[in-house]
This record gives sequence, structure tokens and C-alpha cells, in this order.
Amino acid sequence: MYLPDFKYHKPKTIKEASAILLKSGNAAPIAGGTDLLVEIKTGLRQFRDIVSLSGIAELKQITEDDNNIFIGSALTHSEIIHSNLIQEKLSALAEAASKIGSHQIRNSGTIGGNLCTGASCADTAPILMAYDASVELVSENETRIINLKKFLIHHHQTDVRKGEILTKIIVPKRNCITGACFEKFGLREAASISVASSAVVLSFENGICSDAGIVIGACGPTPVFSNKASEVILGKSAKDIYGNNDIIESAAIAASEDSLPIDDIRGSADYRRELTKVLTRRAIHNVVKRTGLV
Ligand SMILES: Cc1cc2nc3c(=O)[nH]c(=O)nc-3n(C[C@H](O)[C@H](O)[C@H](O)COP(=O)(O)OP(=O)(O)OC[C@H]3O[C@@H](n4cnc5c(N)ncnc54)[C@H](O)[C@@H]3O)c2cc1C
Repeated sequence: MYLPDFKYHKPKTIKEASAILLKSGNAAPIAGGTDLLVEIKTGLRQFRDIVSLSGIAELKQITEDDNNIFIGSALTHSEIIHSNLIQEKLSALAEAASKIGSHQIRNSGTIGGNLCTGASCADTAPILMAYDASVELVSENETRIINLKKFLIHHHQTDVRKGEILTKIIVPKRNCITGACFEKFGLREAASISVASSAVVLSFENGICSDAGIVIGACGPTPVFSNKASEVILGKSAKDIYGNNDIIESAAIAASEDSLPIDDIRGSADYRRELTKVLTRRAIHNVVKRTGLV
């Protein structure tokens, strides 16, 4: 299958890229192309102008200040996995990235592309939501920062406006003991799309859970932040959560109740609800263990 003709642009700055996107009546940015090229080849989408982000150096940086970690949108999943900063401070994001596709996909596909495609089964979205991440969107005239919960609107629908580029993902730092885990179930060991996933981030002050993010992936039009599951865990001690199966079980059931799965070729809604329980139970258990508090 051949690609139809389009004009390929390779700007050096975000403003230049945005200007091309705004001027063209029919343009799209391309990062790794692992989603976009498939859609163009299969005739799902057609563009007159394709704007590559690969020549824009600032989209490839990972930095931090006192309050946040900033992840450039054009970093590939492999670059995320091998970043010392990510491994040290956001290890569950590296864990999620390592479970995406195959080596080839991880070497080309980017974190920004994963979020902008807005697929309900995207693997970086649940863990970033559990970390309470936001995204920065820049156009020629405006910069906006929006929480991921608002950015992801529906399956394949995000809040990227015409001319905007997702430049970075902003993850707030926590100054207390925090553990995180991403669990995914696919139909094969490798290169498989999530049938369900569970992302958990828990923070503890004086051994008590003071912040809980429990997010279910691939079981709704967007990742589902389970308020009910988080409430079960909040205010409990690490020792109680780890030592008392009833607490983890209640949170796992709550997450399953909050999820909004559908039947599709990868699994039934009932199967996904069961998976959600298993993955959430496993993730909470791992998170508490990783904090070193038990
Ligand atoms: C065989 C295969 C296996 C896969 N397995 C998985 C998997 O296990 N888990 C998973 O989550 N995904 C998987 N994917 C999907 C895909 O690889 C990821 O979603 C990838 O991260 C997309 O990134 P990209 O850079 O290739 O995006 P592109 O294809 O370049 O772009 C995707 C979309 O986002 C837009 N876009 C990209 N970057 C920006 C930006 N910075 N600002 C604004 N818009 C932007 C593009 O215009 C396009 O609409 C798989 C894909 C394939 C082909």
C-alpha cells in the first residue's frame, strides 16, 4: 500500500511548525508516524501538508525544577525508558513505556504522539493521569497548560486545537514517600495492545496515604480515574493496606465498578471488569511494597 502525495515540512522551531499548521487548510504534525502513517496508508485520513516535529530540539528534552518534571513530547518510548531522571523519579512511566508495542515501535513512537492519538488503550496516558500530569500546548499566538484529565476528551478525541503542538508533559513532584506501578494485560506477551490496564500512584506522609491516583486504562472512552478506589486507600496506613487483603480488595472492586468497558474483539466488558480487579489489586500491592514502608 502506497502513501498518497503530500508536502513534507521539517521546521526547526515550534512557532514555525505552528505557522505551517495554521496556514494550511489541511495539515497534521507527525512525530514517530507509528499511528499517523497507518491511518494515512489505510485511507482513514488524508493531508496536504505533513509537519515533522523531529527537527525541533526542545521537544526532545527532559528537565526538572523544584516543583515539576518536564518531558518533551517528541521523546520516543525508548528514550523515556532509558532516561535516568525518569527511572529515578517516574519509574512507573518507564514501566508503561517498556510495555508498548515492539522495539521498533518504541524506537519510533513518541510519548506526545501516544497522548495526541487519544486512543483509549494508550499505555502512557493512565500512568501520567495517576501522576496528575498536565500537558503544554503551544501555537503561534498562545500557550496553554491543561490537566490530562481534561485534555483526553473521548476515544481519539483530544483538546489539541488547530495550529497547536503538544510541547511537553508536566508532572508535579511530590515531597513525600511515593510509590507507583503500571500493570497491563494484553492478549500476547509482547507487542500487544492493552485489553485492560491499571496505573496506581500513592503518596504517604508519616506512613499514612495522603494522595491516591488509581486509573484504569482501555476500559472506557478515556482512561478512568477511579475516585471510589482512591477514597478506599486515602487515610489508610501502608502497613494496613499491605497487611489487610480487605482494603486492597475493596479498592480493586471500586476501580472495576468505576470502569466503563465495552465488548470488542479483544475481550468482553465482563472480562475487562474482572481484569481491572486483578490488575488493580496487583498494582496497589506492588506500589506499597515499592515505597519501602512495609
Ligand atoms: C504495531 C503497533 C503496536 C503498537 N502497540 C502499542 C501499545 O502497546 N501501546 C500503546 O499505547 N500504543 C501502541 N501503538 C500505538 C503507537 O505506537 C503509539 O500511540 C505511539 O506512541 C504514537 O506516537 P508517534 O510519535 O508514532 O505518533 P504519530 O503517529 O506521529 O502521531 C499520532 C497523532 O498525534 C499527532 N501528534 C503527534 N505528536 C504531536 C504533538 N507533539 N503535538 C500535536 N499533535 C501531535 C499526529 O498529528 C497524529 O494525529 C502501537 C502501534 C503499532 C503500529
